[in-house]
Amino acid sequence: MGWLGKLFGTGAKKEETMKMEPAVMKEPGKEVKKMVKDPVCGMEVDEKTAPAKSEHMGKTYYFCAPGCKKAFDENPAKYTEG
Ligand SMILES: [Zn+2]
Repeated sequence: MGWLGKLFGTGAKKEETMKMEPAVMKEPGKEVKKMVKDPVCGMEVDEKTAPAKSEHMGKTYYFCAPGCKKAFDENPAKYTEG
């Protein structure tokens, strides 16, 4: 770890360090996955890749499958709080 400590220690060779470890590079523009709960079955779905979504009372709900959306659309009150 001697040579590595030297790289991190001085800070002068920052570029070289990044080049050597691309896996740990930060990606500032990249968002973390936002998981939302399917109100029908309770499964967690990624809102960017959710196969179905529905709007109710100004809020968007995401579903794991079109079948869940259908169940929600038929009776949204059953699945929403309040
Ligand atoms: Zn579902």
